[in-house]
Amino acid sequence: MAAKIPIAQTRMFSNVFICRDCNKKIRTQTIRILSGKIKCPRCAGKTFRPIRKK
Ligand SMILES: [Zn+2]
Repeated sequence: MAAKIPIAQTRMFSNVFICRDCNKKIRTQTIRILSGKIKCPRCAGKTFRPIRKK
């Protein structure tokens, strides 16, 4: 059962993205980022990176 905890954390973080232009955090599904349907609410940019990648 303990194995579920890392999976939950991965899910939480994998659904958070950072705008490359203004560094705003956005929580959405990965599939929506990949499909290009998400715009940054602050700068309207369309490029995001996963939160864990530096
Ligand atoms: Zn932005």
